[in-house]
Amino acid sequence: MRPTIDHPDSHVTRLSVKKRPVVRLVVLVTALACALLAAFTGWFVWHSQQTQIRQTEVANANVARMVGAQVEAAMKATSLALANVVERVEHDGTAQASLARLQRHLVELTRTTPELHGIFVYGADGSWLATSLPETTLGNNADRSYFRYHLEHPGRAIHIAPPVKSRSTGVWVLPVSRRIDHPDGSFAGVALITLKVNFFERIYDELDVGRTGTVLLALADGTVVYRRPFDERVIGTNLAQGVVFQAIKKRPIGSEFMVARVDNIERLYSYRRVDRFAFVIAVGQTRDELLAGWKRSSLVIAAVALLVGLVFVLFAARLLKQFAIRDRLDQKLRAYSEVLERDNLGLQQLAHTDTLTGLANRRRFDEVLAHELRRAALAGSALALVLLDVDYFKKYNDRHGHPAGDACLQAVARILAEQVNRNRDLPARYGGEEFALVLPDTDAAGALAVAERIRAAIEAMGAAHADSPFGVVTASAGLAVLAPGDAGDGAAAGLLARADAQLYRAKESGRNRVADERGAG
Ligand code: GH3
Ligand code: MG
Ligand code: MG
Repeated sequence: MRPTIDHPDSHVTRLSVKKRPVVRLVVLVTALACALLAAFTGWFVWHSQQTQIRQTEVANANVARMVGAQVEAAMKATSLALANVVERVEHDGTAQASLARLQRHLVELTRTTPELHGIFVYGADGSWLATSLPETTLGNNADRSYFRYHLEHPGRAIHIAPPVKSRSTGVWVLPVSRRIDHPDGSFAGVALITLKVNFFERIYDELDVGRTGTVLLALADGTVVYRRPFDERVIGTNLAQGVVFQAIKKRPIGSEFMVARVDNIERLYSYRRVDRFAFVIAVGQTRDELLAGWKRSSLVIAAVALLVGLVFVLFAARLLKQFAIRDRLDQKLRAYSEVLERDNLGLQQLAHTDTLTGLANRRRFDEVLAHELRRAALAGSALALVLLDVDYFKKYNDRHGHPAGDACLQAVARILAEQVNRNRDLPARYGGEEFALVLPDTDAAGALAVAERIRAAIEAMGAAHADSPFGVVTASAGLAVLAPGDAGDGAAAGLLARADAQLYRAKESGRNRVADERGAG
C-alpha cells in the first residue's frame, strides 16, 4: 500500500514556501541589497558627472583667463607702439626727411614684432604718409570707419575697430588706431596698427579645448574677432544677441551650459570680459564631448552593478529553490512517516488480534496479563482471571462441520466482547474453543458475576446443539483471583493453573457453570 503523496509542484507546497518567514527575509534582504546597489550606483554616476562638469568648468575658465592675459599683453604692446609713432609724428612733423626716417622705423618695428601685420600713418585727408610696407605705396583710407571715428572724436585713447580684410595684403586684420593732433589740438591724421587675426589662431590652436570645443574672441560690442574653429564667414559678424553676450550682460565672469546660435550645439561656456580693452573671451566645450568619458565609465559601472544585482537575485532564487526542495522533502517525509505509522499500527493490530474472532490473541493476552500482574503488585490492587471453554464442542464440529464451528466461536467471542465493559478488561481467545478474560481491579465476587453473565448469555443465545445434554451451545468457566503476595516471576503461570483447575472442576461437575476457588473450598 503506497501512499499517494507525489505532488511536488502542487499549489499547496508553493504557498507554504511563500509563507515561511525565512523566505520573506531572503526576499526582503535581496530587494534591499538591490535597492542599495541601485541607489549607490545612481549617486556615484551623478556625482562623477558633477565632478566632470566642475573640472571642465575650471579648465575652461583657466583657458579663458590665459587667452585674456595674452590679448591684454598684445593690446598693451600695440598701444605702446601707437603712442611711440604718434609722438614721433607730432614731434618730427611730416617733412619728407622725417617721413623717410619714420618709414624705416615702422619697417623695423613690424619686423621685430610678429603679431603686427602693419603700421600706417595717415594725414588729415586720409592719404598714406608712411607705412611699414617695404616700398612706399600710395593710398587713401579716409573712408575707413576708424578714420572717421578719430576725425570726429578728439582724444588720445586707442580705438579698436571691427576686423577687416587688409587692402594691402588681403589677410584678416584687427585695426587699432590713435588720433594725431596738430600742436593746436586740431586733427592731423591717424596712426594705425593692424594685428593679424591669425596671430590669435596660432595661440588658440595650441589650447586643448577638445575636438568640438570653441574659443571666441570678440569686441565688447559683440563683433567677432576670432572664433575657433576658424570660419571666415563668422569674423566681423555681430554676436551681441548671442547667448554668451546675454550671459555676460548679467555677469562679467562665469560658467554655464548654453546652446550656441551659430551651430545650435549645447556647450559648457566659461566667459570673461577684459574691461580695459573692451574684449570678451569665451571658451566652450560641447556637453557630449566633455561627458563622453563619464558616459563610458558610467556604462561600465552600471553594467557591473547590474551584474552584481543579478548575482544577488540568482543567489536568492537558488536559496528559495533550496527552501522549496527542503519543504517538499519534509512534506514527503512527513507523509511517509504518517503512512508508516499507520502501517505499523495496522501491523501491531494484526500481531495482537485473533483473525477468526477479532479478539485479542494469545500473544496479546500474555502481554496484558503480565502487565496487569505487575501493576496489581505495585498498586496492591485486585486482579481476576477467567478461563472459559465451550462444552462438547468436538461433537458440535462433528455434526455441523468446521465452518459452522467457526461461526459458533465468533458468536461466543461477540458475547465476550459485549459482556465486558470496563476499559482495561481484556477478552481474548486463548486457543481452540477456549477463551480468557483478564479483569483488573476485580475481586472474586465481581469476576464470578461477569463469568456468570457470559455463561448465561451463551446459553441464552440458543444455538442448537443436539449432542449436548443442554440442547444448546453452552460453556464452562473457571476463575481465580490474585492473592496478596502472589506477584513475581511465576505469578501468571500460577494464576492460569489455578483458573484452569477451576475450569476442570466446572467440567467435572456437569458443565454449563462457573467454578471458583471459594466454591471449591
Ligand atoms: P468438553 O465439553 O469436555 O470441553 O468437550 P469438548 O469436545 O469441547 O472438548 P475437546 O477439548 O476434546 O474438544 C475441543 C474441540 O474444539 C476440538 C476441535 O474439534 C474443536 N476446535 C478447537 N478449535 C477450533 C476452531 O478453531 N474451530 C472449530 N470449528 N473447532 C475447533
Ligand atoms: Mg477445550
Ligand atoms: Mg470444550
